[in-house]
Amino acid sequence: MTTIELLQPDDWHVHLRNDEMLAAVVGYSAQRFRYAMVMPNLMPPITSSEAAATYRAQILQHVPASKSGFNPQMAIYCSDTVDLNDLKAGIASGAIAAVKYYPAGATTNSAAGGQSMADFMTLYEVLAESGVRLLVHAESTDPTVDLFDREAVFLERQLATVCERLPELQVTVEHVSTAAGIDFVAAHDQAVATITPHHLSKERSDLLAHGMKPDLFCKPIINSAADRDALVAAATSGESSFFLGTDSAPHPTTAKYGPTAKAGIFNAAYGLEVVAEVFYQQNKLDQLEAFTSRNGAKAYGVDVADTKIRLTREAVDADIATSFTTAAGDEVVLFGTDEAALWKVEQL
Ligand SMILES: [Zn+2]
Repeated sequence: MTTIELLQPDDWHVHLRNDEMLAAVVGYSAQRFRYAMVMPNLMPPITSSEAAATYRAQILQHVPASKSGFNPQMAIYCSDTVDLNDLKAGIASGAIAAVKYYPAGATTNSAAGGQSMADFMTLYEVLAESGVRLLVHAESTDPTVDLFDREAVFLERQLATVCERLPELQVTVEHVSTAAGIDFVAAHDQAVATITPHHLSKERSDLLAHGMKPDLFCKPIINSAADRDALVAAATSGESSFFLGTDSAPHPTTAKYGPTAKAGIFNAAYGLEVVAEVFYQQNKLDQLEAFTSRNGAKAYGVDVADTKIRLTREAVDADIATSFTTAAGDEVVLFGTDEAALWKVEQL
């Protein structure tokens, strides 16, 4: 039997949504994680310190009393409507922890995003001066670029230029999904990357080869086996540039199953078990704590947790829930049920 204790993990990329969906999902994140970097792609997007503070208060209303250590960090949405004085004030007060750049149209609720990263250099200068990270959804929206090449092309055509022009800017390549993305981070001291449980554990044949699986459809798309292997090598290396961001993104089954599936995977519930199994299979459990609990804290300049969890690899005899249903009647499928049956997780 294999047992490992970890400092409380952090989730540096999560979508908590709002209304009934928020109420249903936030407990899953609070159950496992300490810090959570909350994405701002609501309708309308979160673009001000006031909106970020209001959203954070809504989130905290739904956190169980027993999980008061859960600490949402708020990212605001990089758009024309961001007021730079408000951004500075929000950074100073702690209301704003990061700014997220979305290419317009790349993913869920990204219509307000940018056409070109270079359009926001003045905003990035504020971030660089404050030491606050720019979080980047690195995916080209050029329709002539193949879906599986979009991360590599975006990094080369857009983020590389911004990094060159502003070497003081600290960037996080979110949900890195390709070997090219890993290479980009390795080549840029100012860059780090979050990696998701699904990009670590699946490759595109899992998505497409045995009946198309809407539950594995996300953006950026799950890429080749060679890309997955590069992600696993980076995550299990202990290298401080790489850390966990689940990109947990719930969609109701009504939006997933049909002629067009929405992009997003809900893995706040079992993402930790999925990651543990990846590290276990690589015989790298000794590097798991760096990935889940240390490297991200270092990147965001916060102390590591003072609480711990214990993971034990043993058959879980309780029933493993495969979905939940919101108060509005929406069902959401849980990612990672196979791994959840293999790992027992205890709060210490
Ligand atoms: Zn995301």
